Amino acid sequence: MCLAALPMVVGVYYALLQVGDSVAGLQVAVYVSANVMLAVCCLVAARRHRSLSTVLLLISASAFLSGAADVVFYFLALVNGTVAYPSVADIGYVAAYPLMAAAMLALVRKRTPEWDGASTIDAAIVAVSAGYLTYEFVITPSIDVTANNIANLVSVAYPIGDLMLIAVGARLLLGAGPRPVPLAFFGGYLALVLFADTTYSIQSLNGTYEAGNLLDAIWMASGFLLAAGVLHPALPKMAERSSTRSPDATMSRLALLAAAASIAPTSLIVQLMRDREPHILIAATICNVLFWLVIARMAGLVSAQRHAAITDGLTGLRSRRFFDQALLNETIRAVRSGNPMSLLLLDIDHFKKVNDTFGHDGGDRVLVEVAHRLSRFVRPGDIVSRYGGEEFAILLPGADITQAQEIAERVRQGVAAAPIAVTKSSLYHVTVSIGVAPMPARDADPTSLIIFADRALYAAKNAGRNRVACTDSGLVKASLAESPVTY
Ligand code: GH3
Ligand code: MG
Ligand code: MG
Repeated sequence: MCLAALPMVVGVYYALLQVGDSVAGLQVAVYVSANVMLAVCCLVAARRHRSLSTVLLLISASAFLSGAADVVFYFLALVNGTVAYPSVADIGYVAAYPLMAAAMLALVRKRTPEWDGASTIDAAIVAVSAGYLTYEFVITPSIDVTANNIANLVSVAYPIGDLMLIAVGARLLLGAGPRPVPLAFFGGYLALVLFADTTYSIQSLNGTYEAGNLLDAIWMASGFLLAAGVLHPALPKMAERSSTRSPDATMSRLALLAAAASIAPTSLIVQLMRDREPHILIAATICNVLFWLVIARMAGLVSAQRHAAITDGLTGLRSRRFFDQALLNETIRAVRSGNPMSLLLLDIDHFKKVNDTFGHDGGDRVLVEVAHRLSRFVRPGDIVSRYGGEEFAILLPGADITQAQEIAERVRQGVAAAPIAVTKSSLYHVTVSIGVAPMPARDADPTSLIIFADRALYAAKNAGRNRVACTDSGLVKASLAESPVTY
C-alpha cells in the first residue's frame, strides 16, 4: 500500500510545486508526509512485533526528527524568506542519522549476537573506501575557511552521518542471517538516501542545486520504501538469529570487496593523471588501512578453512583427516620415546534403529550427544575423532593396555549412563561397543594399530555389544562387561 501511494504523493508534490508559493504550506505537508508515514508505520509495526520494538522505535524517532526538521526549515523559509545556515532544522536532520544507525545496529545484534569479525571487516572495507571518497570529494571542498566553525561543523556532520549509515548498512546487508524481502527494502532505502544525500552535496558544491528538483522525489521514495519494509509480514524473519556465525565468502562478495578496496588507489591514479591535487598522505594512509583489512580478512578465511578441514561439521570432534595425521605423528613419537600408546575404536550399537525410529535428524542428534559424552570421559590430550558415520576413534598417547581398558570402560559406561533426549518428548538408551588396541612393542605402524582395534571392536559386537574388547598383539580377548541393554 505504501508503495502504491508513492507515485500519487510524489505526483501531487510536483503538481503543487508548479502552482507556486501560494500553496507552499501544502507542498510542505505533502513532502513531510513521507517521514510522518514512516514514523507512524514504525509505531504500528512496533505494536505488532514486540521483540523488534527497540529497532522500530529508533527508526520512528529518526523519521519523526527528519519530518520535524522539514517543517521547521520550511516554516523559517516562509517567515523569513531565507534560512540561515546552520539553522535549528539542522539539529533535527543531523540527530536523525545516529538514531537510524542505532536502529540498524540493534537489528544486526539480533541477527548475529556473537562477534562476527568477517562481516565487520567487510563493512569496514566498504566504509573506509566510501569514507575516502567522502573526505576527498565532499568534506574537503565543502569546508569554507572563511565561514564560522559551527557552519563548518554542520556541513561536515552530514557526510559523516551518511558514512555512519554506510558502515552500519554494509554491516547489516553483508552480515550473516536470513535474507527476507524486507531486507531488500532496507537496502533500497539506504541506496536512495545515500544517493540523494551525495547528489545534494555535489550539487550544492557546484551551485546547481535547486529546491524542488528530482532529489525530493528520491528522499520521499526512501521513506515510503522503508515504511513498506517495516509493514511487510516477513519483518520478524529479518531479526531472526543467524544459523551461521559468518557469511560465506562467495565470489560476488569477494568481487564487491575487491571493487570497494580498489576505489581509493584508482581515484588517486585518476586524479594524478588529470593533474588534480589529491591528498596523497590521506590516500596513502587509506590504502594502507585497506591493505591490512584485506590481509586480516584473508587470514580469517585461511584459519576458517583450516578449522573446517580438521573438524567434523556435525559433532565438532576432530575429523578423520586430522586423526589419520595425528595417529601417524603420535606413533612416530611413541616409538622414539618408548612410551606406550593405545587406540580405541567405537561403534554405536543398533544405530540403524535410531535412524529408523527418529529419522536421520534424530540420528544426528544422538551422534552429537554421544560425541559430547566421549569428550567428557577422556583425559586432556587424548584425541577424540569422528572416524566414520557412527564410528569414533580415540587416540590415547601414553596409555598402556591397562589404562586404555580403564578409559574405554569409563567411556562405555558414560555413554550408557543416561538416556539421550532425541526429541523433546522421547528419550533413548544408546550404547557403544569399543575395541581397544595397544601399540605393539615391535613393528608399530598406524595401519596395523587400526586393524587390531577394528578386530577387537568386531569381537565386542559379536560378544553381544555394549562392551569393551581388546587385542594384544593381534590376539583378540573380549572382556565381557555388563550384559547388553535390551530395548
Ligand atoms: P551395529 O550394532 O552392528 O553397529 O548396528 P548398526 O545398526 O549400528 O549398524 P551400523 O554400524 O552398520 O550402522 C550404520 C548406520 O549409521 C547406517 C547409516 O544409515 C547410519 N549413519 C551413518 N552416518 C550417519 C550420519 O551422519 N547421520 C545419521 N543419522 N546416520 C548415519
Ligand atoms: Mg558402524
Ligand atoms: Mg553401529
